[in-house]
Amino acid sequence: MVQDLIRELLSELGEDPSREGLLDTPKRVEQALAFLTSGYRADIDEVLNGALFRVDYSEMVIVKDIDFYSLCEHHLLPFFGKCHVAYIPSDRVIGLSKIPRLVDVFARRLQVQERLTNQIAETIRDKIAPIGVAVVIEATHLCMSMRGVEKQNSFAVTSAMIGAFRDSARTRMEFLELIKLRSAIPGVSERAASGMACVAEG
Ligand SMILES: [Zn+2]
Repeated sequence: MVQDLIRELLSELGEDPSREGLLDTPKRVEQALAFLTSGYRADIDEVLNGALFRVDYSEMVIVKDIDFYSLCEHHLLPFFGKCHVAYIPSDRVIGLSKIPRLVDVFARRLQVQERLTNQIAETIRDKIAPIGVAVVIEATHLCMSMRGVEKQNSFAVTSAMIGAFRDSARTRMEFLELIKLRSAIPGVSERAASGMACVAEG
């Protein structure tokens, strides 16, 4: 079914789906899309299963520079970059290796960067009720750079600040200092979502 659609799409684009180089393309595209959207079929509880621990630790936990790849829901083109996650546990922590897995679950869906950022933060909030959660994502959007939209080399930065990261400027600044953002982001300390990629259509 998906393969038929891809063959049709190739024809509509002016290609000949029966030429040698494209013969297996529908099958490959189907497999690639299945992988890139596998997050829809992932179960968060299964991903985190056995990796929520009770601990007596209340300092900031940071996992930074998590590589991620996602697809923008407006153009079905990739956006990708780095995700930084921090939280301050109240009585439970998440196994460190599970944080990148959590990012993947939400990245492997059709997304906008702002929602991806929020979903990661809200999931951590919901699963371990920490004192605070912060997520910052820096990403390049191919729908901007490939289509020759202005600011081709710019990347979008989004943030979600919950609990102590929203309420305490000192906590927030400590986090931002620790991830050492590559760019100065005006307003990020005010719980800003400054990235607005994909907003301008056309
Ligand atoms: Zn887009």
